[in-house]
Amino acid sequence: MRPVEMPVLSTADAVETGHAGMGGWIDPADITDAALRPVAEKVAAGQRLNFDDGMALWNSRDIFTIGALANSVRQSMHGRTAYYNINRHINYTNICALSCKFCEFQRKRGEAGAYEYDLEHIYRIAGEVDAAGATEVHIVGGLHPWLPFAWYLEMLSGIKKRYPRLHLKCFTAIEIDHFSRISKLSVREVLEALREHGLGSMPGGGAEVFDDRVHDAVFKGKLRSDGWMRVHRTAHELGIKTNATILYGHVETRAQRVEHLLKLRELQDDAPGFQCIIPLSFIPDGSELGHLPGNTGLEDMKMLAISRLMLPNFPHVKAFWIMQSMKLSQVSLNFGVDDLDGTVVWYDITKREGGSGNKHQEQTVEDIRRLIVEAGYIPVERDTLYRRVIRNGGNWQVME
Ligand code: SF4
Repeated sequence: MRPVEMPVLSTADAVETGHAGMGGWIDPADITDAALRPVAEKVAAGQRLNFDDGMALWNSRDIFTIGALANSVRQSMHGRTAYYNINRHINYTNICALSCKFCEFQRKRGEAGAYEYDLEHIYRIAGEVDAAGATEVHIVGGLHPWLPFAWYLEMLSGIKKRYPRLHLKCFTAIEIDHFSRISKLSVREVLEALREHGLGSMPGGGAEVFDDRVHDAVFKGKLRSDGWMRVHRTAHELGIKTNATILYGHVETRAQRVEHLLKLRELQDDAPGFQCIIPLSFIPDGSELGHLPGNTGLEDMKMLAISRLMLPNFPHVKAFWIMQSMKLSQVSLNFGVDDLDGTVVWYDITKREGGSGNKHQEQTVEDIRRLIVEAGYIPVERDTLYRRVIRNGGNWQVME
């Protein structure tokens, strides 16, 4: 991981562009697609969109109006701020008891490419992350068939003891459910134990698409939507912040995407604690669904914009550049997105370009800031909990 360098471009550069995105009120009379006019009126009035509104957005080809509507919401929530963080992903093993069809990451023990890091290796990586000035490690892996729950607790407390300032964002809902099974503890007890050992927050992976038919066709054996929701609800009740995802562009329908977002909105109303929605663009290469075409750029932009519009109770919409590409992520800042994720460095689960062999996927802080400034926004480094980071090279502190 490269040490943090002070960026060349500044907030003043963004202001000088004089560009404030496509935000602001859109006169419904100017919208060419009549089906979008009532949606625009609701957005302007701050009313929530329903299923039919979501479908009207998906069925429209007026991508610029959809983007402008999403951007008006984005701008009212965040102005011209665009967030990023300095982090590194650690995928501790790709050995997994399951074999989800969409997954090119998992291996069985002994299979070519299978790996599992030992604790010393993980501590070494965490040391590099800390020395480079990152604020977060993002730790997820396969459902390892033999590692005991105590190993995960030791991993967290070992990192925290050595590098206390690092925030540990760890484990998807399916891993939490797996820990509950292997430890014979309840989900609540598992989360409490992880928190005692250093867990700071949870990522949002594993949500896929909340539909049992799709689930059984593509993710059979994996935690179903009710289980995913139960884990996140419990985390929120314990005060643990989490994120949410939707994996789109495989066998699901657009209606199922809208329903997925509505279920997330409902859970956030009932048990608040989601920080952001991260729409993950399905990349078929290397998976059992490799015959599928994957998403186009317009589909990606619509998914991000519609997420912003359907989820007004989610503070943030993140473009995960590994999935959407850095160039589209830059454009997405004008389609409802306010967060470009982080430097990442190594990501073993998916690689969009250049095949699946090289998993080194790193953006420099300078590049992320340049892309944000060029799009007319003000780059703000955040920590995992969206507090502003005041940085001087590798030294940093958060603004409470
Ligand atoms: S998606 Fe997760 S649970 Fe499914 S096979 Fe891949 S690593 Fe295992």
